[in-house]
Amino acid sequence: MFAKTKRATILLVDDVPANLSVLSSILREDYRVQLATSGAKALALVAASSPDLILLDVMMPEMDGYEVCKRLKANPDTCDIPVLFVTARNQTEDEELGLTLGAMDYIHKPISPPIIKARVRNHIALKLQTDALKRLSFMDGLTQVANRRRFDDTLGNELRRAVRQQHELSLLMLDVDYFKLFNDHYGHGLGDQCLMRVAQAMQAEVNRPMDLLARYGGEEFVVLLPETDLEDARKVAESLRETVAAMQIPHAHSPAAAHITISIGAACNTQSETNLEAELLKLADQALYLAKQSGRNQVKSWHKNFTPRNV
Ligand code: GH3
Ligand code: MG
Ligand code: MG
Repeated sequence: MFAKTKRATILLVDDVPANLSVLSSILREDYRVQLATSGAKALALVAASSPDLILLDVMMPEMDGYEVCKRLKANPDTCDIPVLFVTARNQTEDEELGLTLGAMDYIHKPISPPIIKARVRNHIALKLQTDALKRLSFMDGLTQVANRRRFDDTLGNELRRAVRQQHELSLLMLDVDYFKLFNDHYGHGLGDQCLMRVAQAMQAEVNRPMDLLARYGGEEFVVLLPETDLEDARKVAESLRETVAAMQIPHAHSPAAAHITISIGAACNTQSETNLEAELLKLADQALYLAKQSGRNQVKSWHKNFTPRNV
């Protein structure tokens, strides 16, 4: 517990440096402490290094604490960072306004070191717990890779970014070959283990920070490859196919090989007329279907004449 709170970062914001020194001396033993002497500097620091908690003075020149809080709460990237107002203003209306703006708590000056410590400890514990739950809610329980929810969230964002920055974005859709036969022969327990091993081996291959491997459902996975054209996506797909085949997980009943194999369909946003999420998924799925039809254990990508519409 101590080790965890030790790593948490707290941003202290106050236009009076002496106030920052006092707060910092109370908290720096247990937390990483960052200091900002204005609202603008605080917002810049938050954007750069997302702290776990913000202690925010209300009365500051130029941009007051309420405005800082309002901006933090309006930004999806920062709205989950808890804000505690630390202020000499003790009117009920002030407190009400701060809480309405989304602050977690209100601490009155002059501050009491033990109370500050206790409140900060409680809020940090809650923040770390919330972060852990959020991470779990985006992870597939069996394979420990990202889940469908995480993929759905990311796909939309990455497609919009690709359009904005005129980047190519590729999508792979992967499916374990003849997996029903594997389950039937080796049992569901070994089937689970197999999916776990395959997912972990693929995760080790998909290692650029922006890339995302996710379990799409059952024995199907997707890989999102931002800033990647179809040719490079095919290379990633081929290396994933080889990695899985090289694991040599026995599959005595697979017509494709004596071991577990995967088929992969690749598509790129440039081939989609609309760049819509559903369109890109459909193209990758069609390519996967072709890989299955062509004998499995292979990569197929979408090409211009692939859909009847484009013939
Ligand atoms: P294909 O090569 O055409 O993909 O054939 P397939 O047998 O892999 O495809 P099908 O869709 O017929 O069967 C998928 C199988 O995957 C059936 C299902 O029980 C199994 N499966 C899906 N999720 C899990 C899981 O979490 N654990 C296990 N053990 N099996 C799973
Ligand atoms: Mg399958
Ligand atoms: Mg399937």
